[in-house]
Amino acid sequence: MNKKIEQFIDLFEAENHKLNLCKFGDRKDFISRHIMDSLESSQFLAKAKKVLDLGTGGGLPGLVLAISHPKTEFTLMDSIGKKCVSVERMTKELKLTNVKVICGRAEELAHDIREKFDVVIARALAPLPTLLELASGFVRRGGLLIAYKGPNYQEELTSSKHAMLEMNLLLDKIHQYKLPDDEVRRVLMVFNKNKTLDSKYPRQNGLPKKRPL
Ligand code: SAH
Repeated sequence: MNKKIEQFIDLFEAENHKLNLCKFGDRKDFISRHIMDSLESSQFLAKAKKVLDLGTGGGLPGLVLAISHPKTEFTLMDSIGKKCVSVERMTKELKLTNVKVICGRAEELAHDIREKFDVVIARALAPLPTLLELASGFVRRGGLLIAYKGPNYQEELTSSKHAMLEMNLLLDKIHQYKLPDDEVRRVLMVFNKNKTLDSKYPRQNGLPKKRPL
């Protein structure tokens, strides 16, 4: 495996002891559940110059993708300060020059950093209607939004019809996959943003979650 990925796993394990970022399991589990899962979205990044990982937590999938796409510019965003500091630390240790970390809430930042990214990725951020509202403001017109989801994705999709319409997002593709030694059916839902987003979205802090569209 890529040396930097190995180094990332060591760093993540150490940060995880301090911050409890996710269930680490043993190294083999971590590689399958988190490294391979993160890399699954690589196939949609071929043409992207600027990518946002929204709700990156401890840097998943953003840091893994940044290691494997050194020529692509990655922004990793999270609302929790401690997690951002931890991701900054790992970025420095890994000497990644293609990563920027921004700490703050999507509801605010999506009004300042508006429609700047070719691809926005979100893994375990929120239920789909909330996720779409938090993310769409960052996606440039013609860009992609990629949501990591589990086996209940059809229900999430059904409950997101209105949000998709309001967010100007069209479902482009559902990429299905499984991870080694794991029966869970996983998907990447790929949305295309076809029009500029109305400036009233996203709504103020907490509303996308409290009152999903
Ligand atoms: N993507 C990571 C972390 C998932 S946990 C992984 O797959 O392991 C979800 C993360 O989203 C948390 O770290 C939380 O702080 C962040 N988050 C939730 N709502 C947010 C918001 N409105 N703006 C920015 N970050 C948010």
